[in-house]
Amino acid sequence: MPSMITHWLFAEKVEEKLGFGCSQAEKNLRLWGAQGPDILFCHRTMPLRKKGESLSDYGHRMHTMADPAPLIAALQQCEKEGLGGAPGRAWRQGFLCHYLLDRTCHPFVTARAQWLHEQLPVQPVSYCHQEIEASLDTMMLRRETGQLPQERAVHDALPPLGDSEKEILVLHLERLIQAGFHTHVPKELLYQVLKDASYAFHLATDKTGLKRMLTRRWERKKTWRISSRLLPMTEDPQWDHANLDHAVWGEKGEDDDFFALYDRAVEESPTFFALYQTNCAEQVTAHIPFC
Ligand SMILES: [Zn+2]
Ligand SMILES: [Zn+2]
Repeated sequence: MPSMITHWLFAEKVEEKLGFGCSQAEKNLRLWGAQGPDILFCHRTMPLRKKGESLSDYGHRMHTMADPAPLIAALQQCEKEGLGGAPGRAWRQGFLCHYLLDRTCHPFVTARAQWLHEQLPVQPVSYCHQEIEASLDTMMLRRETGQLPQERAVHDALPPLGDSEKEILVLHLERLIQAGFHTHVPKELLYQVLKDASYAFHLATDKTGLKRMLTRRWERKKTWRISSRLLPMTEDPQWDHANLDHAVWGEKGEDDDFFALYDRAVEESPTFFALYQTNCAEQVTAHIPFC
């Protein structure tokens, strides 16, 4: 889940670069879209909200589909129908930003998480993954805005929505799950996703830094179950999470640092969106998964 800030910053950067529409409704929905399928991870998985069926598995399945072309094709179909008008289009733009950033940067995070786990075997790979993404969020925020995590509430990544905006978002999630997995999910559950995601983003907000400090202290001899979900005020100098030293992490000898990958995704965004407008979904994805 940490990486919310990076996805938020990326969507804003692409919005500026490509001159996307900027009404309040468009901005709100684009920000929600920018969190992509990650909001599904929050459904019925957070403390005190674990009752009932969870849709989080669809989040995992979207991320691990060998080729997310069916999802892109569904978005293109929404485009044709003009689903949700300008705010609907903005949600789709955000979602596409999420995919573009994930597919460019996520292999790096996965490989580096495995490496960190090998250095710290007591920490499961998933917590190493969260730890790296939380640190990258802190670094990206400082790099792009000069801000510290104290100055930006994570929950502002998911601004409050009006009823018609919620409906637009729910319709899109319904379409994506249908297109990807041929399953019809009841709308009540999708409305619950929105609520649970807002709740999770509020829990992840730590403007004083105390949540992270206290949970990390408490987890000193344990696994980083909770603290790895929270942004550190500054990155731990012991670990080069952005890979500024250019250690090789990829199977083909890739040694990029995180910032270079992020910038590459920004550079690629005009071509990517142009392809999306004119070409079939397989050409847009080039068979590259989210992760
Ligand atoms: Zn994602
Ligand atoms: Zn991740």
